[in-house]
Amino acid sequence: MDQKVFVALNSDFLSFSIPTVMPAWVIDKYGSNDVLRFTKNASFPIIDFPNEVIVKVFAAGLNPLDVSMRGGYGAATLSMKRDPVNIKRSGSEFPLILGRDVSGVIMECGLDVKYFRERDEVWAAIPPWKQGSLAEFVVLSANEVSHKPKSLNHTQAAAIPYVATTAWSALVNTGGLSKDNCANKRILILGGSGGVGTFAIQMLKAWGAHVTVTCSQNAEQFVKGLGADHVVDYTSGPVEEPLSALEKFDLILDNVGGDTERWALNLLKPWSGAKYVTLVTPFLQNTDMLGIADGMMQSAATMATKALKHLIKGVHYRWGFYAPSGPALDEIREMVDAGQIQAVVDETFNFSQVPQAFEKVEKGHARGKTVVQIS
Ligand code: NDP
Repeated sequence: MDQKVFVALNSDFLSFSIPTVMPAWVIDKYGSNDVLRFTKNASFPIIDFPNEVIVKVFAAGLNPLDVSMRGGYGAATLSMKRDPVNIKRSGSEFPLILGRDVSGVIMECGLDVKYFRERDEVWAAIPPWKQGSLAEFVVLSANEVSHKPKSLNHTQAAAIPYVATTAWSALVNTGGLSKDNCANKRILILGGSGGVGTFAIQMLKAWGAHVTVTCSQNAEQFVKGLGADHVVDYTSGPVEEPLSALEKFDLILDNVGGDTERWALNLLKPWSGAKYVTLVTPFLQNTDMLGIADGMMQSAATMATKALKHLIKGVHYRWGFYAPSGPALDEIREMVDAGQIQAVVDETFNFSQVPQAFEKVEKGHARGKTVVQIS
């Protein structure tokens, strides 16, 4: 459905059409894959703030978070972010559009947007409290958006932003790494073959680090091809044994979680500022189970207890989180266009195959990213 708009300009009247609805995959309740519903009548995004842009989506990347959010994971915290003063009813997030990565073209800019123009090719990682990219259009703040690398097509570009901004936040903001201090640092990536791991290996190698990776035996050549210096197969027995035989590490990025915390911090160089940063945290689960206030207090208590327990042994324990950042994507674009980082696309799907794309992500064993071509 289109709405005709008439604009007076030099006493002539121009008429153009602003769509009010668009095609999208939505969910109307949380559940398994059968809650995904295709509609041609999703609400067209609107610019609410002058620093926002509307992006026409060409490709959307999926992440494990999309599968978790489909099932209701993080609903308490994400609802609070969408509606901080709790004016709306519970369930007002529906129909909810998933999809965290976007590569596309700017269609409209808010009045304060200076850095972008209509028709600019852009990429972004969409915060999980906003409507996602499994739709023809999405609205974002301009500071979450960046110009797309020229060397990548949209499908390739949609494989990078969410895992890249997560790895950047964990390694740079939390881990204190940068292109100037990585040379000869020993980094261990637990879980190197998925989205975050494949990006992190390449970024750290470009910065001169020595990178050890754990992954399945059948991913060994794959991660070596991305630059990993040393690979340990976790499927052939407990990895802590072969890892303990190696020189100790300056930083560990944990993409696996579970019982890794029990042994991984012993692999760090003590009393040297070495850090363990895990992406697998109980933060959203706590707020889902206990409510916002109690869940946050529980998380703060857990985090502080663990940090203290390891600090007295001379190593730092940290939680890492995705953080939206156009400026980080600007720096990553330069690395991509310089040939230092490639997009690792595991499988692509058409817009009509979104449920199959979710099934693929849900099965695990990712070798890079799953991308949906929207148009
Ligand atoms: P993916 O699903 O893309 O990759 C996970 C990879 O880990 C797969 O390649 C899998 O392959 C491998 N793997 C599974 N078990 C092990 C193991 N025991 N040891 C080594 N490798 C293993 O996930 P992402 O890379 O996108 O994300 C990684 C984790 O980080 C997820 O848990 C995700 O939820 C979390 N995350 C957290 C964020 C935050 O803000 N805190 C943001 C983004 C991600 P195979 O099974 O074949 O071995």
